[in-house]
Amino acid sequence: MTAAPPALLVPPAAFAPALNTERAFAFVGERLWLDFINSDVLRGIDALRDFDTMISWLEAASLVDNERGSGMRRRAREQPSGAAAALVDARRIRTSLRILAERGTATNTAEQVRSDALGEINRVLGRSAGTRRVERRSDGSYARTFVPVGDAFAGLMIPIVESAADALILGELPRVRRCADMRCARVFFDSTKNGRRRWCDMATCGNRAKAARHRQKLRQTAD
Ligand SMILES: [Zn+2]
Repeated sequence: MTAAPPALLVPPAAFAPALNTERAFAFVGERLWLDFINSDVLRGIDALRDFDTMISWLEAASLVDNERGSGMRRRAREQPSGAAAALVDARRIRTSLRILAERGTATNTAEQVRSDALGEINRVLGRSAGTRRVERRSDGSYARTFVPVGDAFAGLMIPIVESAADALILGELPRVRRCADMRCARVFFDSTKNGRRRWCDMATCGNRAKAARHRQKLRQTAD
């Protein structure tokens, strides 16, 4: 007699995101703001390609639950110009944060770069009114949420810019790195003890580098 298969291997359709986010989105930055920056270099899909993919990314990042995500998508259909403006704004924030991640500690430019980023962070924080909450997720973990009043789209970027603000407040910028693979533009927070993390992800870039080293070794032995 064979055992019946587990009933919940496949989640109910209502909980399935619009994209296969597990494959489409990578969260390897160890900080929300860095993951958001990395959303521009996904294999084939830019998370800010359109409003819908932006909501999918926010859902994958657990910033928006399915219910609020559906509400946003509905609202976007009713107010396409508001949704388009939110998307343009998100892209602007992402560009500004990438500059902070990549040049926030560079000699000569650091001060200007940080001051520009701070202006951008405060612009976003300053214009949104709403309620901050702490909510328990279905997996038992806790997350900060922000429920905006007024413009429904205005608060979407708040947790992301707060995460960037934390990097400034906690002095984390010296540990923010860009992947050592020149073809990869991912950034990450290096939380290793010795501060020598080089790759965004061992399964992709780290592995490629290992394979390249191996090939070189083989060539050398053949010589
Ligand atoms: Zn990489």
